[in-house]
Amino acid sequence: MAQRSSASPDVAHLRSTANLQLESTLFGRLPPEIREMVYAECWVVSGLRQHVFLDCHGRQLGHSPCIRTSGEPDERNYEIQRLMSCRRRNRRGARSRSSVAVDRLWAARFSSDWHEHWPCEEMLPRTPEKVARNDHSSHSHRSLFLPILLLCKRTYIEALPSLYSSVTFIFTDIKSALRCLSSPFHPPTALLRSLIFSLALPFRTLHEQRDYYSPSLCDGPWARLCTTLSDMARLHRYAPLPSAST
Ligand SMILES: [Zn+2]
Repeated sequence: MAQRSSASPDVAHLRSTANLQLESTLFGRLPPEIREMVYAECWVVSGLRQHVFLDCHGRQLGHSPCIRTSGEPDERNYEIQRLMSCRRRNRRGARSRSSVAVDRLWAARFSSDWHEHWPCEEMLPRTPEKVARNDHSSHSHRSLFLPILLLCKRTYIEALPSLYSSVTFIFTDIKSALRCLSSPFHPPTALLRSLIFSLALPFRTLHEQRDYYSPSLCDGPWARLCTTLSDMARLHRYAPLPSAST
């Protein structure tokens, strides 16, 4: 389910004003190691791989779970093979036409801005009303990210590092990646450990940095994203490299 995220609050202020909540079971009885396990389970059931993207107006970031498994083949390749087989049969047969028709569903999949993650895009709720009321045809994708973070100041402070070091963020466009990773507020980029990019870039954009001895000298969204990634000291995994679209 797509959920909107907003700017993170001031952690230092939260820490100075947080109630210790020692009368609660969570903080009064459970040791930090067990609380850490509780948080980890919450992230697992919410989805450890999350797409992060801007809304259709380009204003707010949202997230939704990735339903693709690592290494899963793109079904569009099989559909292309099927279409090509149909075309060959038509050429050999009585039909004079050698072209084949692609229905609207597959046409949308082939042109999806989410690339091989088109099944994840199709899982998004389609109406603003559904997004607003956190509704979906299946409730299996409701996440516990915000409920845990909003439980109280202390859970926010304690669970935030666990969340951002456990979840892999997936970006399918540069604009969303820059908005998310360049912002000093959301998410705290210093805590991020794992990112996945699925980008389609013009060949020239992908290689333009070869003309400069420093990425910072080459302006543009792709160069800014590369510079941002190089500044993320704790990042230890990002994959795969984007492909050239033309
Ligand atoms: Zn996905």
